[in-house]
Amino acid sequence: MMAFERERQRMVEEQIMGRGISDERVLKAMRTVPRHEFLPEAIRGNAYVDQALPLGEGQTMSQPYMVALMTELLKLSGTERVLEIGTGSGYQAAVLAELCEKVYTVERIKVLADKARATLDRLGYRSVALKVYDGTYGWKEMSPFDAIVVTAGAPHVPDALVEQLREGGRMVIPVGDRYGQRLIKMVKTAGGVITEQSVPCVFVPLIGNHGWKE
Ligand code: SAH
Repeated sequence: MMAFERERQRMVEEQIMGRGISDERVLKAMRTVPRHEFLPEAIRGNAYVDQALPLGEGQTMSQPYMVALMTELLKLSGTERVLEIGTGSGYQAAVLAELCEKVYTVERIKVLADKARATLDRLGYRSVALKVYDGTYGWKEMSPFDAIVVTAGAPHVPDALVEQLREGGRMVIPVGDRYGQRLIKMVKTAGGVITEQSVPCVFVPLIGNHGWKE
């Protein structure tokens, strides 16, 4: 246990601060959330290495740096309602929960959603609401959101997600082809959507009606 704790502090220094993430609140969340608890037992020993990890069902948990970068780009102050598409293990949802008021997360694979729910409950993350659904439709009943993060690679930005973002809201989403994407940050303003490009990245595909076909 203490070994995990030490490895996590080192992960933050070397992989995250070392690559220029400076938002103190994000750093604190990355120091706090026990990443190893979200992984299958057999690979927990790798929890703090500088790479994406398999979480089951052919899906992957993003590299720690990518989780920190996406989170920093959302510019959370603590009062926000945030939508995540692609719950996976629940790790990113827990990081978000440390930094905002309420997290809504959507996962299409039920066994992953059930496991994530159990892990989040065990660790006491009560501000995370989860549903099993095609997240390319967003979560309309709970909209608008102050921030949206998509943790699977999309062929294009689903319209529903832009619609469900409030004015002034931020969205971070990897967009590209199936095997490589570019992280995109969008800000919704009265005058329209402002788009900025961030780093190249590789995510598992966003599969759904407004994503990739299976
Ligand atoms: N954020 C996760 C990692 C996600 S991997 C974590 O921290 O562990 C991407 C996840 O997106 C996978 O679990 C995959 O099943 C899910 N996914 C893919 N397409 C989806 C869709 N249309 N709606 C909801 N989830 C989707």
